[in-house]
Order: sequence, then C-alpha cells, then structure tokens
Amino acid sequence: MCGTCGCGESDVRVEGQRGGGEHAAGTGHPHAHEPLAGVVEIETALLAKNQHLADHNRAWLAARGIVALNLMSSPGSGKTSLLCRTISAVAPSRPVAVVEGDQETRLDAERIRATGAPVVQINTGAGCHLDADMLARGLSELNPAEGSLVFVENVGNLVCPALFDLGEATRVVVVSVTEGEDKPLKYPAMFAVADVVVINKIDLLPYVDVRLAELTAHCRSVNPGVRVLPLSVTTGEGIAAWCDWLLTSEPVST
Ligand code: MG
Repeated sequence: MCGTCGCGESDVRVEGQRGGGEHAAGTGHPHAHEPLAGVVEIETALLAKNQHLADHNRAWLAARGIVALNLMSSPGSGKTSLLCRTISAVAPSRPVAVVEGDQETRLDAERIRATGAPVVQINTGAGCHLDADMLARGLSELNPAEGSLVFVENVGNLVCPALFDLGEATRVVVVSVTEGEDKPLKYPAMFAVADVVVINKIDLLPYVDVRLAELTAHCRSVNPGVRVLPLSVTTGEGIAAWCDWLLTSEPVST
C-alpha cells in the first residue's frame, strides 16, 4: 500500500470555481523513505484518522441530502467522459457537482466545467489517491447544492483508492473492456469494495479479446451480487440504465 509505493501528500492543491489554490503541508502520509519499523502502526493510525474524517464527511453530506459517489478505476477507463455524458442526462432532474482528483493538471475539471456543472480540481502531487481530508476541503470549496449528486472522480489507480473511505454513499468502479477481463482477479480489493461496476467501451468488444460474460463473472467472483452495468460512453448504449440507476435507486450506504 502507500507506505511502500512511496506516494505522498506534500503538494496537495485544491482549486475551485474562484480560481484560487489552496496549498497544504503534508499530513503524515507514510513515505517510502521512512524506517520500516513502525510502518504498520503509522498506516493503522493513518487509516483510523481517515475513517474519522470520512465519518464526518458522511454526516455532513447526509445532513444536506447530498449523495456522493466515489468513482474509481485505472487511468483511461473513461471516468471523465462518463461524467460529462451523465451530467447532460441527469442535471435536468437533479443538481450535479463534481470533485476531480488527479496528480496534476486541471484538464478534467475544464472538461466538466464545459458542461456547466460546478467542479473543484484536487491535484494530489505525488499522491496516488484521494483521502477524506482532501474531499472535505474539496467540498468546502465546491459548496454543493442541497439534494445534489456529487461525483468524486478519484485518482486513476486500481490499488490505493480502495483503502480510503471518503465518506461517500456509493463506490463505483469503472473498468473498460480494453483493460482485459482479468482485472477483477488481479485487483480484487478494488472490485470487492464496489457497490456498482460500470463496464465501459463495450462498443470495442468486437476488436478485443475480452468476453463480457467472463468479465462480469470475474467481478462477481470477488464481489457476489455486485450490480454490473455495461455501457458505451461513445455510442450511448447502456447510458440510460446507468442514469436510471442514479436517479431511481437509493445508493447503498457503505
Ligand atoms: Mg479523468
């Protein structure tokens, strides 16, 4: 996990509608150069602190009738494209806002802003995931409307984001067919925490050596009963079912 992969939080930046940037010092995230002795204790304390902050976020969101969804995936699965398409379909029915997480750049926030939805970009620097403190700062900047859907696009990574509760109501894992049908087996921790798995880019199935039924079965082998929603952001196939689920299902509290 992060204590051995070397990620850090020394240069986290939260940038929102007002154009300003918040810079923060590191918050005790374990680094690879720390002595091995005590690493387990540091990580345990880190996750306990994160859980406390996540519980605070969850209460803050619930008090405002806001449903937060944590979108996690490998880089390039199509999370931002899915959000852009989702916003245009859902925003007429329910307010939508977005917290974007990436190591660097405002590129995804600019794509979201072009849809008209409020957005905050969090740049994690060397960090490989969002944590509850980052989301709290992002929500403070975003100030989402009561009753809104808040999509949190996590840093593209199939490992570390699974460990950090943000206070979200629902965890959505996005996997594209171009990644191969074995990803749920290789990264079971991520797929095990999912409330919903979105399988994107199904329009490319004729061109890749991936069977949708096998990929779905692998998702359910590590997470029996998980809802699986195949779709294509490019063609729009399956988007209606995804949006119907967003608007009509009560997201699972995790
Ligand atoms: Mg993105």
